[in-house]
Amino acid sequence: MKKQFTVVLLMVTLFFTSVTSAFGTSKLDKPVINEVKSVSSSYLKISWSEVDDAEEYKVYRSSSSDGKYKLCGTTENTYYKDKSIKTGTKYYYKVRAVSDGEYDDSALSKWKSGKVSKSNSNSAKSSAGKVVYITKTGEKYHVYGCRYLKKSCIEISLSSAKNQGYTACSVCY
Ligand SMILES: [Zn+2]
Repeated sequence: MKKQFTVVLLMVTLFFTSVTSAFGTSKLDKPVINEVKSVSSSYLKISWSEVDDAEEYKVYRSSSSDGKYKLCGTTENTYYKDKSIKTGTKYYYKVRAVSDGEYDDSALSKWKSGKVSKSNSNSAKSSAGKVVYITKTGEKYHVYGCRYLKKSCIEISLSSAKNQGYTACSVCY
């Protein structure tokens, strides 16, 4: 008699467990990554659509689209700034919406990739006249390779260099 009761109890438990998982909770919608943008040469900004009822978002990163995605940060915003990046390396991102417990966390979003390009002489040449280089202490802007850039060499657009009061170097410009 006691054994029968246990079996019935087990069946009832199983029944309710399956009902709960089928109807009781629901998953949050997947976020959609809008953009992976290179901001200056120091970080990538990943932004995505807001998901209803999401408490926060987890951002995952991989070095290939079908590679292993590792958690690289959590945020309450609908964007994330990834500053631990290497210039010239392409990164792939996926985002998950996380609930406060009322719902199940969403599945991972589709991936989107981005990279920060190298600031070498080629990129300076290809956008000739647009990019110049300044130093930490000087008041002049230079062409890449100028001897005054030996100690520090900071890439900047010509327009913002002018806006900040820099003037052309007499040696290289
Ligand atoms: Zn110069």
